[in-house]
Amino acid sequence: MVKSIRPHAGGWVVDTSGGPCAASRVVLATPASVTADLIKPFCPAAATLREIVYSSVVVVIEVESLRQRHPRRTPRIGGPRRLSLGHRAIITDLIAELGDTMGLDGDPIARVTQWRDALPQFAPGHLDRMAEIEGEITVRTAGVKATGAAFRGLGLPSCLRQGRQAART
Ligand SMILES: Cc1cc2nc3c(=O)[nH]c(=O)nc-3n(C[C@H](O)[C@H](O)[C@H](O)COP(=O)(O)OP(=O)(O)OC[C@H]3O[C@@H](n4cnc5c(N)ncnc54)[C@H](O)[C@@H]3O)c2cc1C
Repeated sequence: MVKSIRPHAGGWVVDTSGGPCAASRVVLATPASVTADLIKPFCPAAATLREIVYSSVVVVIEVESLRQRHPRRTPRIGGPRRLSLGHRAIITDLIAELGDTMGLDGDPIARVTQWRDALPQFAPGHLDRMAEIEGEITVRTAGVKATGAAFRGLGLPSCLRQGRQAART
């Protein structure tokens, strides 16, 4: 776990929970709020990365099939409320909703995974704001690059492309 970064002898020291690590260049691919906290001592503009809103996701994998009671209808599944529920309550809630919308019934074995603050949401003008922040980071923290889903796209191909580019430049 990275706790801080600091300039040292023309390069950087990355302070981690395992101890310090000297590096000539650093690529930060952490969530936007973490990146903001790591860089803002040297680059105040990076604090605006904290303003990027993240959505959370709940994934339910059903292991045992549900029975169908009625003809299928279009499902409406989800809602922010689920994030605050325990796993059993999420499954109960979901079964009730699947019953209402698709006529499904049963007590499935299911696995629930909650991904808090998983997906950055891009407001209008996002790319322009990111270009400004990247420019500031380049000027104020030479040798440090910041990248990841919050910058230029959250799909895996985009993250890989951004990571490669950050490592090259
Ligand atoms: C449920 C779900 C399903 C998805 N499915 C798809 C899909 O099918 N296809 C697709 O293209 N995309 C998918 N995505 C989106 C994609 O997975 C993400 O947008 C992408 O993984 C983001 O990559 P990232 O490297 O920017 O961030 P992350 O993958 O979030 O990586 C950030 C890393 O930083 C680490 N970190 C945080 N703080 C610190 C610290 N202080 N020090 C050190 N490390 C730290 C975290 O532990 C994490 O490993 C999915 C996302 C979710 C949540």
